[in-house]
Amino acid sequence: MLNPPHRFGQDTSQWITVPPQGYGGIQWVVATLIDALLAAGHEVLLVGAPGSTARPGLTVSDATTFDTTRAALRTFGPDVVHDHTNGQLLPAEPDWPTVRTHHLNSVPEYRTNSVYLSHAQRRAAGSEHAPLIRLPVNPDRYTYRQEKEDFLLFLGRVSVHKGARQAAAFAQAAGLPLKLAGPAWEPDYLHGILTDFPGTAEYVGEVGGSHRTELLAAARGLLVLSQPLGGPLGDEWIEPGATVVAEAAVSGTPVIASDNGCLAEIAPHVGIALPVEHTPTGEEAAKILAGLPAPKQLRATAVERWGHHLTASTYLEVYRRAAADGTWT
Ligand code: UDP
Repeated sequence: MLNPPHRFGQDTSQWITVPPQGYGGIQWVVATLIDALLAAGHEVLLVGAPGSTARPGLTVSDATTFDTTRAALRTFGPDVVHDHTNGQLLPAEPDWPTVRTHHLNSVPEYRTNSVYLSHAQRRAAGSEHAPLIRLPVNPDRYTYRQEKEDFLLFLGRVSVHKGARQAAAFAQAAGLPLKLAGPAWEPDYLHGILTDFPGTAEYVGEVGGSHRTELLAAARGLLVLSQPLGGPLGDEWIEPGATVVAEAAVSGTPVIASDNGCLAEIAPHVGIALPVEHTPTGEEAAKILAGLPAPKQLRATAVERWGHHLTASTYLEVYRRAAADGTWT
């Protein structure tokens, strides 16, 4: 399992681990798949996340470069390599059968044997015949709460493409406070939101551990009003997979999303997908909140659609296809 190696914030002595200390969608996907693969009796080597905790069946490598990754793989001798790094740790033609999950927008660095997260993402990559596997969630890693508190939650990068400003506008229309949780790498953007929505938006910083799971479980709703602009690579942002959707649902919390990318496909099962341009009036916001699914139903839907055992068994089929010399684009 190859995870993209990234330093933890400004701290150059630590890597983002699997699972991550705070923000980290790909790291959560990797952690969740590992949970299910170990439970199914497989042995896993984790590369690209030094400092992660090893457990029975899981070996953690210190490798973070092309050469050290190759050496670690040679020693371990995997049946299949699952690359989540968009080619960062593996050449175009590796020595092992390889499956690559694409976590970004547009065309992956190496298209062969890619797996996509949504129809929207796969379409944009021009790979209509490649497998589509939704992002997984492990319910055991989340807190489920039936009784909610009177606040809305934003959990993610506080960035233009993630729609933090639109989340504040929705919360203001609904007359509910908004807790903004996540790294704010564009401080002017955050400052603008706090200035323009003073009685509504509160910044709680980047969260991890039980703080993260408690916020997810306590919120009346999670706002994922992703926008098709200003993506991390300066491109049009088509929300590829949205880890937070299943995380909220499994915590019994409904999702109020935009219809950007994957959200139009997944959010309606556990909430609503609104047109990207639309800011509801107070009356509309109240109506939306009143019509959202109940906590019990949300958790059941999340497990049924995105449960990690199910996702891992679909990946195992794809691994077998790659290991049997199958290739696709
Ligand atoms: N996250 C977190 N702490 C924060 C903000 C976000 O743990 O302060 C997590 C969140 O729970 C999710 C991930 O970071 O697992 C973000 O992944 P997502 O796919 O939603 O967004 P992206 O990877 O596109 O930024």
